[in-house]
Amino acid sequence: MKPKILLIYTGGTIGMMKDPETKALRAFDFSKLLVHIPEIKQLDCEIETFSFEDPIDSSDMNIQEWRKLGDVIHANYDDYNGFVVLHGSDTMSFTGSTLSFMFENLTKPIILTGSQLPIGDLRTDAKENLITSLQLAIQNDNGTPAIQEVCIYFEYQLYRANRTSKINAEHFEAFSSPNYPPLAISGVHLNIDKSLLWQRKLVDPSLNVDGTAFAKAETQKNSLLDSNRMNYRPDFEDAVVVLKLFPGITEEVVGAICNIKGLKGIILETYGSGNAPTQKWFINLLKKALENNIRIVNVTQCVGGAVSMGKYETSTQLKQIGIVSGKDITTEAALAKMMYLLVHTNSLNDFRVYFETSLRGEVTDSIA
Ligand code: ASP
Repeated sequence: MKPKILLIYTGGTIGMMKDPETKALRAFDFSKLLVHIPEIKQLDCEIETFSFEDPIDSSDMNIQEWRKLGDVIHANYDDYNGFVVLHGSDTMSFTGSTLSFMFENLTKPIILTGSQLPIGDLRTDAKENLITSLQLAIQNDNGTPAIQEVCIYFEYQLYRANRTSKINAEHFEAFSSPNYPPLAISGVHLNIDKSLLWQRKLVDPSLNVDGTAFAKAETQKNSLLDSNRMNYRPDFEDAVVVLKLFPGITEEVVGAICNIKGLKGIILETYGSGNAPTQKWFINLLKKALENNIRIVNVTQCVGGAVSMGKYETSTQLKQIGIVSGKDITTEAALAKMMYLLVHTNSLNDFRVYFETSLRGEVTDSIA
């Protein structure tokens, strides 16, 4: 039997065509996909399509739209061998990160792709991105999907989605994964590096924990790895903020952010390996926020590399007051993980244990 893929269109440039008369860009009719990309017929799979009723520019993504997308995949999970999601590139790394946490113990590929030029443009990058994404989604080993994680395919590279950032607004090579190598490179051959693919952390059900880092979590009943089945966890908390430090940042600005009513989490984008101002007012504001039960995670503003709190004096205090290390996580994945863990953990200790441990390959466990 041929593998079945569900192709989901959420919006974005990839699904646009230029109206030959008006020259305006308008959404592409997905029921006519094969007319526009007849090459797809050569793929050895069945493709069915689903389009968001009102396709959106990815700048309009939010937790409701993520849930809509998650629900479509979840409702069709058993009927397809894999999913290809067409999505605007602007926030694709956020959506990819979110989906990776939504689907625990994923056994099928979810591949996001998009393009810099519309599908109807003569020089479009959409066709290659779409065709190769479909090809990757049907790769299997004796019927078992080769890829069992959430990925982004763009310009000849397949990445783990929660390791990516959009790095260029114009080049076809729009994404980068500075802290984890590409999972596959498309050239003359389509080479997947199997050693880099995500391996599910299988849990011994009698222990109810994986016996390592999770043994430290207090609320093991609430363990986020408590079964080996695929679990759909669509709830996210959006009372969060990203606070990017800059030289000269004032007490008023940091104070206003820390005192946002109902705020539950702050992603603190610090300098270099996790460094921040040492002034008293700054540390005191963060301390007060922590006392008010706001979770704070330290991520680096650098494109690559990791936070190492305590390496310099400028981060020692952050560690002492209880700020969580984001290690080598991207801001996009940190935000998604915080939104996820705010729903699924109760104590600061559990939040820290889960945040500092790789749940879907989003951080490197070996970083101290
Ligand atoms: N603004 C568009 C979006 O993210 C750009 C793109 O499709 O790549 O939806």
